[in-house]
Amino acid sequence: MPLAYCHSRHQTVRRLTRVVQVGNVGVGGSNPIRLQSMTTSDTEDVAATLAQCIKLAEAGCEIIRITAPNKAAAVALKSIHQQFRAAGFSQPLVADIHFLPQAAMEAVEHVEKVRVNPGNYADKKKFAVLEYTDAAYAEELERLHEAFSPLVLRAKTLGRSLRIGTNHGSLSDRIMNRFGDTPHGMVEAALEFVRIAESHGFKDMILSMKASNPKVMIEAYRLAAARMSELKMDYPLHLGVTEAGEGEDARIKSAIGIGSLLADGLGDTIRVSLTEDPWYEIPVCRELVARADKLIQSGKTVQVKLKDDPADPFSYARRITDSISLSEKCKAGATELPRVIVRSVAGLNNWQAAVKEVLDAHNQQREARVEGLLVQLTSAEQITALQSLRKALGLAVPAVFVETALSLDSEIFKGEGSKLVIVRTFKADHGAQLKADSEICNKNGAILSADLDVESAKSLASELSKIPAGRLIISSSQPSSGLHAIGTHREMVRLLCEAKVQAPLWIRATEANAAILDQGFQSRLLEASILAGSLLVDGYGDLISCETPDSTVKSLTLGYDVLQGARARQTKTEYVACPSCGRTLFDIQSTTLKIKARTGHLKSVTIAVMGCIVNGPGEMADADFGYVGGAPGKINLYVGKTPVKFNIPQEEAVERLVDLIKEKGKWVEA
Ligand code: SF4
Repeated sequence: MPLAYCHSRHQTVRRLTRVVQVGNVGVGGSNPIRLQSMTTSDTEDVAATLAQCIKLAEAGCEIIRITAPNKAAAVALKSIHQQFRAAGFSQPLVADIHFLPQAAMEAVEHVEKVRVNPGNYADKKKFAVLEYTDAAYAEELERLHEAFSPLVLRAKTLGRSLRIGTNHGSLSDRIMNRFGDTPHGMVEAALEFVRIAESHGFKDMILSMKASNPKVMIEAYRLAAARMSELKMDYPLHLGVTEAGEGEDARIKSAIGIGSLLADGLGDTIRVSLTEDPWYEIPVCRELVARADKLIQSGKTVQVKLKDDPADPFSYARRITDSISLSEKCKAGATELPRVIVRSVAGLNNWQAAVKEVLDAHNQQREARVEGLLVQLTSAEQITALQSLRKALGLAVPAVFVETALSLDSEIFKGEGSKLVIVRTFKADHGAQLKADSEICNKNGAILSADLDVESAKSLASELSKIPAGRLIISSSQPSSGLHAIGTHREMVRLLCEAKVQAPLWIRATEANAAILDQGFQSRLLEASILAGSLLVDGYGDLISCETPDSTVKSLTLGYDVLQGARARQTKTEYVACPSCGRTLFDIQSTTLKIKARTGHLKSVTIAVMGCIVNGPGEMADADFGYVGGAPGKINLYVGKTPVKFNIPQEEAVERLVDLIKEKGKWVEA
């Protein structure tokens, strides 16, 4: 039986946590989900850091973190704090510590909270494989106890709080040896510190389990919540995806990681880390929290008790589904990459424009192809346009998805070109119609896509199970009563699994499935990422459509980007870029853009751009290549976690990175 990590996977019911006071800001309990960010200036430059704190506070940031990489920076926190208060701001400040207990002991005197990384607070990372006996492990814990206790005791005396902030990729050798580089290891790393603090009667702690891979991150937070509930612990969670990068990709990754957990009721404070100026993080945080609040309110209106869905929330496995042929070369199903469907903006009323939109999008996005074009057929007069559209698209698009409520007469199926998928909405009493539609689709070589809600999935399960394998797709374009859209999909899949229906699932990010309807593209991007990300991480989803009113190319790109963000399908270079902080040794923002410009055409490579060698190598986790600040103006290059080139002048480093990618056989010409 899987451990329980949340109250409901179908509605948003917030996990009950203790209130931890961070200065005057309460985190956890019934407090609002708090927004936070981190300064990127050199901490010892008090004026610059103070200016960033003020800008963040004015942008609505409720908790501000500042790196304290050494004792001098920790000392500087005193002036920053004093001047920040003198300027009339009350937001609590947090010191970010890696490696140096002395810096933590200094910082705790000046700021309201201290963050420690259990992977490196008392351990030097050696990347060594060591065999720990039980006795050696116990000895290590004893050493940890000695190193961490002074900070706990001082925090207790001063009324400070602590964050035990685990990062995937910077786990101690001890943890790696026993638990591996896993979500389990991440959780145990934090619990070692929690137990030490509790042994001193200290409970003002917040936990985080960050990773750059949203799959790992989501599993780690779920496991942390489950383990805490097992151990009767109720510490609040700070959510974040590390090294998300910049732009839309970073927002997608953060929405997948943070948004999915918030929808499950986990998370008391969040940080969206972007390789951009930190104040740009706050509007994204605000949008994610607004969605969570809306879901929490909706969850209160109807009490629903549902059974567990079949996904294992702690370990990724793709749901087994039948294979369906969208064309000779393009299949969908569990053994295939998730397929991207695009809703046509022009539609059948202007089929020539619809064709042009697709061809233009293909010209602009060579790797991202429309694998299914969705159009609405609302009148019999549009049937001729449908035939023309299919013929004109020919092999450019494997299938045309026709959403229609018209009765299916054989005229619809006439014509040649792209394959037909008929999209129909079925209610609970539509059994006879489902049977008839399935028969006519089958007879005409078309696939039936059944759009269902929980009630219709329940009552039509037996009829659905009679449809031959490879002839049926399921979807849910709007949430069922009392459930959120993610929960609706989970319950629908459970019901169909019980009925042995293995039809592929099409995730439709529609306006009706959105928690908040908003005109901006960013909010549609966040909605699509939260819905699709949650389901893909559960192993659900064989087709996806982001049904925005934006251009075909935008919807297409968004579909592929969400799949890439959820690590479900890679079609472009993956970048892991640290958000930068006071340790950063070069301008991460402009360097990341330069590296992107040079390597953006590589399809299956992950490149990490990290500001420093202190934390960079540990935090770049599963990147193939690393570009890491080694010293001021000097770059070290990595293959995986191994440094291979040292002290390269920054001006040459991007080209040397390209040489290294070539040397390793991963380069292709643009
Ligand atoms: S990797 Fe980046 S964010 Fe992390 S400590 Fe180094 S410079 Fe700061």
